[in-house]
Amino acid sequence: MLELTNTRLHDEDRQGEAFSPSVDHNYTTGKKFYIESYGCAMNFADSEIVASILQGKGFGATRNFEEADLVLVNTCSIREKAEQTVRSRLHIFRQLKRSKPSLLIGVLGCMAERLKSKFLEEEKLVDLVVGPDAYRTLPVLIEEAEGGQKAVNVLLSREETYADISPIRIDSNGVTAFVSIMRGCNNMCSFCVVPFTRGRERSRDAISIVKECEALYNEGYREVTLLGQNVDSYYWYPNSDNVDNEFISGAANNSPSTGGGRGEAVTFAMLLETVAKISPLLRVRFSTSHPKDITDDVLHIICRYENICNYIHLPVQSGSNRILQLMNRTYTREWYMSKIKRIREIIPDCGISSDIITGFCTETVEDHLDTLDLMKFARYDMSYMFFYSERPGTLAAKRYQDDVPEETKKRRLDEVVKLQNKLSRESNLKDIGKTFKVLIEGDSKRSAGDWRGRSTQNKVIVFPKKGFDFVKGDYAFVKIHDCTGATLIGEAIITTDAPMVEMEISATL
Ligand code: SAM
Ligand code: SF4
Repeated sequence: MLELTNTRLHDEDRQGEAFSPSVDHNYTTGKKFYIESYGCAMNFADSEIVASILQGKGFGATRNFEEADLVLVNTCSIREKAEQTVRSRLHIFRQLKRSKPSLLIGVLGCMAERLKSKFLEEEKLVDLVVGPDAYRTLPVLIEEAEGGQKAVNVLLSREETYADISPIRIDSNGVTAFVSIMRGCNNMCSFCVVPFTRGRERSRDAISIVKECEALYNEGYREVTLLGQNVDSYYWYPNSDNVDNEFISGAANNSPSTGGGRGEAVTFAMLLETVAKISPLLRVRFSTSHPKDITDDVLHIICRYENICNYIHLPVQSGSNRILQLMNRTYTREWYMSKIKRIREIIPDCGISSDIITGFCTETVEDHLDTLDLMKFARYDMSYMFFYSERPGTLAAKRYQDDVPEETKKRRLDEVVKLQNKLSRESNLKDIGKTFKVLIEGDSKRSAGDWRGRSTQNKVIVFPKKGFDFVKGDYAFVKIHDCTGATLIGEAIITTDAPMVEMEISATL
């Protein structure tokens, strides 16, 4: 898999990251768990839920799998390579079990759903297999596995959202956090395994989402990213217990789209607005938007609130109408282009990124050229780029032949990556001379003498610490004087303070 840059949505640096206990947890079972995570931000957010469930049951955490009593791997099935990586990790853990027979090994997440019997019975690689909707049953399954049974629960649910579970933040920078707002997916993109591994789409209770964001803000976090496979289809009905809740009635009345009213469904635009109102100091991001569903309401809400970031991840997958149809993306190239135009009309300085797949079934040179052409039209700031990897059980695997040779898929991917590098560089060059409000996330990766943060457009910005008293979580105004393909480089120009949030930021500041 090739990706142009890492962002926190699918961060190559985080693949295989282990849980880091933030405090020395007082564990009552005398047993420690180790959890390693793969895949997208949603999987990492799930590991935080699992950590919370286990700590609630008195398990301690460790970052060293050799001292663990329970090793868990939270897995991803989206591409074959992700599965291969997990499999080789499981073999390593299996070796450890030879010298420590009481060790339990468990597979969580998307691969659990897909490969349960293979892992448990055929390969005897693991003791526990737990699907993404069954984490509440982990403590019981652990007991069963301790008793020598093969413990498995991969049932998918139509209701589970883990709304009441406060995630324990894993390896957090203390500034930015992911908040799951929905689970599963009802779209049936023909290449994608997600609807099969994560089940039907369900939206999480809006009140619990807002509470989680408020709690994060009160703990010092300054950015939340609302996560779902298709955030624009977020839709949640308050029930009779919470219809009088101040937020629900307030959100509904504030809704630009509905005009409001008690007990009305909460849409994504309403949720976004309510989270933005927690504090002007709390930045709000979201991912992923589906081109068929993103609404003008959402674009106007982004515009209205300075703290909702001007950044939209709008995966196109292909620029060819024929391929889009085979992919079952349910939009055309022209529809997608009109959405890009609309975003630029309403939010002129919006950062836009995409996901692109090369070499999907039957893709011709002309289809590939259409993709390159659409990328130029959209002028993406960043993209996640992949070559097609057939996933068993998907519609494409059943209906179409994976007939583009791997060499061609990779060559086309290389061309897509090269074009994206050029577009990213052009976009960054345009930022030289401008000033951006940057949320400081921590030290720059290259030098502890520099801060690293992000602009509202989600671009990474580094600047020297010298001469200012910033701390992590502060906002700084940074004037850009240089760039690489993936990073803007600048100098802070004034100190940060709460009132700065009220200031209008403009390119000429
Ligand atoms: N829900 C998001 C959407 O609709 O754009 C994407 C979710 S998926 C976890 C992330 C990305 O992985 C997809 O946008 C797609 O580009 C890529 N992907 C999914 N299945 C793939 C496959 N079989 N081969 C290659 N890339 C794939
Ligand atoms: Fe997969 Fe399509 Fe759902 Fe995204 S919208 S998770 S690509 S099925």
